[in-house]
Amino acid sequence: MFAPDHPLITTLYIVASALFIVGLKMLNRAATARRGNLISGVGMLTAIVATCLLAGMKFHWILLGAVVGSAIGAVAASAVKMTAMPEMVGLFNGFGGLASMLVAWAEFHKWRAEGWAAYHQLLGPGAPDSPRFTAAAIAFTALVGAVTFSGSVVAFLKLAEWITGRPILFRGQRLVNGLIVLTVLAAAGLVTVRPEAPWAYGAFAVVMVVGLLLGVTSVIPIGGADMPVVISLLNSYSGVAAAAAGFIILNNGLIVAGSLVGASGLILTNIMCKAMNRSLGNVLFSGFGATESSGEAAAAQGEVKPISVEDAYYILEAARSVVFVPGYGMAVAQAQHVVRELGQLLEKNGAEVKYCIHPVAGRMPGHMNVLLAEANVPYEQLVEPGDVNPTIENVDVAIVIGANDVVNPAAREDPKSPLWGMPIINVDQARTCIVLKRSMRPGFAGVENPLFFKPNTRMLFGDAKASVSALVAEFKAE
Ligand code: NDP
Repeated sequence: MFAPDHPLITTLYIVASALFIVGLKMLNRAATARRGNLISGVGMLTAIVATCLLAGMKFHWILLGAVVGSAIGAVAASAVKMTAMPEMVGLFNGFGGLASMLVAWAEFHKWRAEGWAAYHQLLGPGAPDSPRFTAAAIAFTALVGAVTFSGSVVAFLKLAEWITGRPILFRGQRLVNGLIVLTVLAAAGLVTVRPEAPWAYGAFAVVMVVGLLLGVTSVIPIGGADMPVVISLLNSYSGVAAAAAGFIILNNGLIVAGSLVGASGLILTNIMCKAMNRSLGNVLFSGFGATESSGEAAAAQGEVKPISVEDAYYILEAARSVVFVPGYGMAVAQAQHVVRELGQLLEKNGAEVKYCIHPVAGRMPGHMNVLLAEANVPYEQLVEPGDVNPTIENVDVAIVIGANDVVNPAAREDPKSPLWGMPIINVDQARTCIVLKRSMRPGFAGVENPLFFKPNTRMLFGDAKASVSALVAEFKAE
């Protein structure tokens, strides 16, 4: 068994931390992302080896956990359908929170069973002399871990559509939430100030149970288009909880890894807030769709004009510039490969082709980037709304592949719409817009889309993969 301050242990944790950072950096680009993921995985393995060395004869418990966890992760990741990936990622976030909460619980239990002097000894060299520091870290970890776990479970249920994606609101909600926050903070304060009091275990139980309740009550009022912000924020919380757990057990590897997740989650949250043009406070406390319009935009006016595959082909055949706008429906249809094939045929036909990705398209951050990268769409052809919108009037055809909320002009035109203010891709301003979807049903936010009634919009109804494949067949037949 090695002491925590043994040079080998310190070196292994430094190597692991460096591998995490390099791996994270490589996730920046589609071309290096796969390798980055692998490098981070090697970093995790290095950290596990270091922890096994620390644990001495009890290392078999760690190995058992690593093997069972890896098996569950591998089976879940390979069995899950591509469309259910966002839910799975959301749930795994939650498990990170649960693990941190359980670490806090186990450590508090050990402390109470052994008494501070013996527990302090167990923490090893360099352990803080102040029991209050450790008690604060335990209470904080348990609280953030509990909120992350139950909040992620609610996000999972919403994404999987097992419960409504709309905000769940009730009278007096803010008062109830305020009381819950006060209760949990008071209990955490008591654990910190008097960790060895006879009642402190009870206060700790309140932190965990009410923390779990807080996760639920904080996420249920958020729904519709605001969910990406919640998901990235919960991701950040899971990192914060892990870093805090690192402060309890004085594990540098855990502190570094947790801080990286916490910080990158916060950056992502900021990107998502910008993509929605909302402040974090506004997302968390206002309740999406709780405005006067109650989620239903004013009834859209005009006539829906369906188009056949043949007619869509003629329009595309004449187009010199085409922008694809993928959305969640492309993931459902798994249409990314045929979309790429159509893009290549259009290029062969002399058109300039781009793929415009909205940051909140799909059901998880980067969802569309992942799908298009999988189909080998060249990275240079991927553009952002800010690159396309200023010159969209010059685009001959915008093809919307199963996107809805991210192209809803109500965000620009209807101050009563719950989407009001969210920057969208202005496909309605292209010369022609062809929308591929199966029906007139709204998107995730549950808001009607006036785009479908615009004079220059044509609806190509059907499964996106079937429609794009039919267009590809038309091009090939000519
Ligand atoms: P939307 O959910 O707004 O719309 C998807 C559309 O795809 C639907 O209107 C649906 O219409 C259509 N569709 C579904 N299946 C198919 C199919 N097989 N073939 C063709 N069309 C299909 O998607 P967007 O990507 O535009 O917007 C994402 C939404 O999800 C936003 O509101 C965002 O805030 C939210 N969200 C995003 C997250 C993220 O991190 N990116 C996380 C959580 C939520 P029909 O049924 O008629 O076919």
